[in-house]
Amino acid sequence: MLNIGCHLSISNGFEAIGKQALEIGANTFQFFTRNPRGGSARKIEQADVDALKQLMSENGFLQILAHAPYTMNLCSAKPETREFALNTLKDDLQRMEYLPDNLYNFHPGSHTGQGVEKGTEQIISALNEAMFPEMNTTVLLETMAGKGSEIGEKFEELKAIIDGVDCNDRIGVCLDTCHVFDAGYDIVNDLDGVLDKFDRIIGLDRLKAIHINDSMNYLGCHKDRHQKIGEGAIGIDAFKRIVNHPSLKNLPFFLETPNDIDGYAYEIRLLKSMVE
Ligand code: FE
Ligand code: FE
Ligand code: ZN
Repeated sequence: MLNIGCHLSISNGFEAIGKQALEIGANTFQFFTRNPRGGSARKIEQADVDALKQLMSENGFLQILAHAPYTMNLCSAKPETREFALNTLKDDLQRMEYLPDNLYNFHPGSHTGQGVEKGTEQIISALNEAMFPEMNTTVLLETMAGKGSEIGEKFEELKAIIDGVDCNDRIGVCLDTCHVFDAGYDIVNDLDGVLDKFDRIIGLDRLKAIHINDSMNYLGCHKDRHQKIGEGAIGIDAFKRIVNHPSLKNLPFFLETPNDIDGYAYEIRLLKSMVE
């Protein structure tokens, strides 16, 4: 059985998003913790959260994935941007305790000219300030395409962050198929080789989720433009190998393809039909 969901809008609340996921054949979903451009988060209603928890347990849902806003940059050269990002991260991780035992994913950040080393130090120090020993959330670093000054396009960069984090058992990685392909990891012709590399550098035990997206552009382009499954440069055969790979097949998969709800429902059926 494939564990799969897609990115959904939380604007009607937690129970509504759970119902929507069910309707499209998903057993998990991803949502933004707040407006993707930043800003304040919606108020959490305990009854709404409890209704989602019940729906999830009744329907055998897997861990859900909360995604931080794209603007959250923990390693900007601008101190005020870093401070805003740290406050967002702290607030998000506190709020995640309403939904314990789930996943929180963020883009490590863009160093905006400071260099990877300096940026990495800033990301680590923010994580160590925001994470806390009693937390019940696993924080995931997303593999990035390497657009601009993004940190996290190389597995080594993610490993350096993980090594600096104090709450080591609460940190993992979310692999985005479009991003790693755009970063130059050839998951089309050498999926085993890429996963071996991931295992040697980071360790496959750290891999907790997959963002399953096709790419509009070619291998190593550093662009980050998602495409519908099978309509991009990664292609349907590669996705078939991805959903059936022994190291991946039991992980939760999240679609972030350019689709409306019917398009997501179709891709969920498509990917399920590929499972051998
Ligand atoms: Fe992302
Ligand atoms: Fe992603
Ligand atoms: Zn992306």
